[in-house]
Amino acid sequence: MTKQILFIIALLITLGVFAYSVRRLWSFFKLTKPSYPIRNIGARISHTLNVAFGQTKIFRKPVIGLMHALVFWGFLVITLGSVEMVVDGMSGGDRVFAFTGWFYDIVMASGDVFALLIIIFVKFFGVRRMFMKIKRFSGVEMTKKANLDAIVSLYFIGLLMASLLAFNMGYISNHPNGYEGVYPVSAALVNLFGWDFGWLQEPGWWIHILLIFTFANYLPYSKHFHVFLSIPNVFLANLEPITKYPNLESITREVKLMLDPEAAYDENAEVARFGVKDVEDISWKNYMDSLSCTQCGRCTDVCPANITGKLLSPRKIFVDVRKRMDEKGPLAALGKEDSKSLLRDYISEEELWACTTCNACVQECPIDISHPNLIMDMRRYLVMEEASAPAELNTMFTNIENNGAPWQFSPEDRMKWAE
Ligand code: SF4
Ligand code: SF4
Repeated sequence: MTKQILFIIALLITLGVFAYSVRRLWSFFKLTKPSYPIRNIGARISHTLNVAFGQTKIFRKPVIGLMHALVFWGFLVITLGSVEMVVDGMSGGDRVFAFTGWFYDIVMASGDVFALLIIIFVKFFGVRRMFMKIKRFSGVEMTKKANLDAIVSLYFIGLLMASLLAFNMGYISNHPNGYEGVYPVSAALVNLFGWDFGWLQEPGWWIHILLIFTFANYLPYSKHFHVFLSIPNVFLANLEPITKYPNLESITREVKLMLDPEAAYDENAEVARFGVKDVEDISWKNYMDSLSCTQCGRCTDVCPANITGKLLSPRKIFVDVRKRMDEKGPLAALGKEDSKSLLRDYISEEELWACTTCNACVQECPIDISHPNLIMDMRRYLVMEEASAPAELNTMFTNIENNGAPWQFSPEDRMKWAE
């Protein structure tokens, strides 16, 4: 009974803190604009099964991709075991899902094997991040804080898995005449050492469950928030061809008004800002992308602008969106403003104009983030609100306005080539 009461207190604290974080994020989402409509649920489910559960994009780098995919699948299986632990904790039961028989055996056995594999892989990921000079883990956006966050998360994951194995080993030792489930790795370790690990069962259970609760509340402030958001982000991805840029509705409305003098002018319509200057101009999907970004750097790794030494790093665009929202969101909640903006204080014009809109970043991103869409919206702001474009583009704009074509020839001379 004491264990049940302590568990329920820990669970309530966890849910309370988590609810605070969700409320904070919800207030940030409320600052953003609508996005594309979410239709085609069948196609979305199939896309999610392929990209998120099948991890197809990750496999473009076969070895490291397989490791990441195994960690992901392992987490899915182990989460089922964690749900059972929570139900056990609340009900005072022991292995309450064991009645599912062979299914239970499969889940427990694979969770036990995945726990060992994940310990090995996160150790490798940690060494790789700290000691191997991998280019995609560097860049101005990869600050000391960002790297520390990655290492802390890897420790969390490693400890979670170690405590799970300790709990399983304790459980096996305490039930020499038979137990529920199958635990190949833990049973092998118990047999290998031949010791009585029974004392590990209770501490293993508590450490594992408290680590889950702590990690769940750490995630909303970490780059590892993708543990929660990557699957929904893929489900909500833009399913249009990646090179298709959405029209700005505000511009379409203006053009319609110019072409149709009969069209009614809505005096009450809000004066829209064209494009994106700050986080209140982005869509909720842009913001969700920034929260979901794993900061893996696969986008920056293939970006031709970045590869050729330009300032642009597509990963930085979304890291900056999240940072700016963390700064502006709390101010907005108090009805205050600052003099900064996403454009220029975080993302420079030079970065924006370096993009070739090749979409290699979108192609590579494992969670379907679209960088050029946001980059284009920021350029739209520069051109339409500030008439601020590189000189080469200004010449082209003038030519289009005067000659109806990007070139410096009069329309009357257009057919001279035929002569
Ligand atoms: S945008 Fe996508 S590819 Fe780029 S760092 Fe984030 S998750 Fe990785
Ligand atoms: S679309 Fe732009 S940001 Fe993305 S890879 Fe190409 S140049 Fe880089």
